[in-house]
Parts: sequence; C-alpha cells; structure tokens
Amino acid sequence: MTPFKIAGTVDSWCGRCKLMLTHTIETLEGTQPTRVHCNTCSSQHAYKPYLPGESPRLVKARERAEENGPRAPQPGKAKASHYEELMKGRDRTTAKSYTPKVKFGPGDVVSHPTFGVGVATALKDSTKIEVLFSEGPKVLIHGR
Ligand SMILES: [Zn+2]
Repeated sequence: MTPFKIAGTVDSWCGRCKLMLTHTIETLEGTQPTRVHCNTCSSQHAYKPYLPGESPRLVKARERAEENGPRAPQPGKAKASHYEELMKGRDRTTAKSYTPKVKFGPGDVVSHPTFGVGVATALKDSTKIEVLFSEGPKVLIHGR
C-alpha cells in the first residue's frame, strides 16, 4: 500500500457524486486521510473509503471471503485436480495392468482396460481397492 500524503490522491466515496472517485487528501491523522476533497465536484468531506452502508468490518469480511472463495474446493474440480496431483511425478510406464488376480496397494499405478491409468488410493478390504482414474474413483476387485 502506498503511504498517504497531504495533496496526494486517494479513492474515496463522494456523497455528492455518489461514486467512488479520486480525491485529494487535505488532512491526515497518522497515516490515514481524514479530510479529502473530490477531484470531480470539489466538495470537501471526510475520507470514506467504503460505500455507504458498508462498515470496514463488512469490507474486510468480504475481502477475506474473496480471498478464500476461489480456492475453496469445488466437488467436481477437486476430483480432477486430485487425479492430476496424484499422477504428477508418477511414471505411467510402470503401471501394473489390472486383473482381479493382481494385488494392489495404495500408491500403485494401475492400468485398466476401460478406465485407463489410475492411482490406487485406498484399500477397501482384502479383495477391494479404490483407484482414482481421470473420470473419478472406482472400486476394483483385486488379489483374488
Ligand atoms: Zn464529488
């Protein structure tokens, strides 16, 4: 953030223009502008960095929500990216061809005739293993 200075400019709400506009700083309290004037209509008023009805707390909360929002896991996307994450750094050429007779363990790369290449993620029980393929997780019979 650029430090504010008197005669510098800052975005503030202008009650006359009813817009967030560039204002010139007239007085500072510490590092915060207190009085400003609107560069558009020249009206002098207190520095209002928020829209009317928005408290600083609301703005902060919204900024936080926006920061976290796009990164929040989305069910569909999470699966695909999880698959890519799991496949990253794994050598597809070492994939074990899937047959119900072969026993797989978590972390094994599995080559399935229908689903393609996947990564074993969890043992369900001694005869079932969950494998994450690009289209999603599948439970396969193994070790029979
Ligand atoms: Zn104005």
